[in-house]
Amino acid sequence: MHHMPTNTGWIEVICGSMFSGKTEELISRLKRVLYAHRAIQVFKPLTDNRYATCEVVSHSDHRLACRPLASAREILDLLDPETEVVGIDECQFFGADLADVVQALADQGLRVICAGLDLDYKGEPFGPMPRLLAVAEFVTKKHAVCMICGNPAHRSQRLVAGGAQVLIGERESYQARCRGCHSAEAEPLASPKLAAGEK
Ligand SMILES: [Zn+2]
Repeated sequence: MHHMPTNTGWIEVICGSMFSGKTEELISRLKRVLYAHRAIQVFKPLTDNRYATCEVVSHSDHRLACRPLASAREILDLLDPETEVVGIDECQFFGADLADVVQALADQGLRVICAGLDLDYKGEPFGPMPRLLAVAEFVTKKHAVCMICGNPAHRSQRLVAGGAQVLIGERESYQARCRGCHSAEAEPLASPKLAAGEK
């Protein structure tokens, strides 16, 4: 972001496919806030327990303490009066009320930085993300590299069978793919090692 607003709250959304560096970007922005000695609070949904239940962790192992929540509404109850910036990771797993909660925070004068998958594995808009993207002042769409052809990738190819929208364990279960290489159907790989070999 080039010019930060003053005397008002606002919403930033960092979205993109898996392996696009969303959490990395979220952590980077939040750390800059900490360097400026401003108070932050970080939240994520309870469903995401891939690495740690009380930390936001990027693929390159940068981490920040955070609070796992069953619902986005809890943020309003847990908000510390000192907090100036709220970070929320894995936003796609929250309910439809996430955009309302984030709007309420921004209306109170807070800077809210949200990260999440904009598309599910079928390439469909994911949970509360479309509304969140619409109400945000600033949107950053990150891209990964397509693991088939090397194009910029904004979709997440599922590699294991099963129809559930939520499937945790992304390193083994997904690849970043471009539009041309992505399929809404799961594409199980012959070798589990190949599937796990993302970089
Ligand atoms: Zn491709």
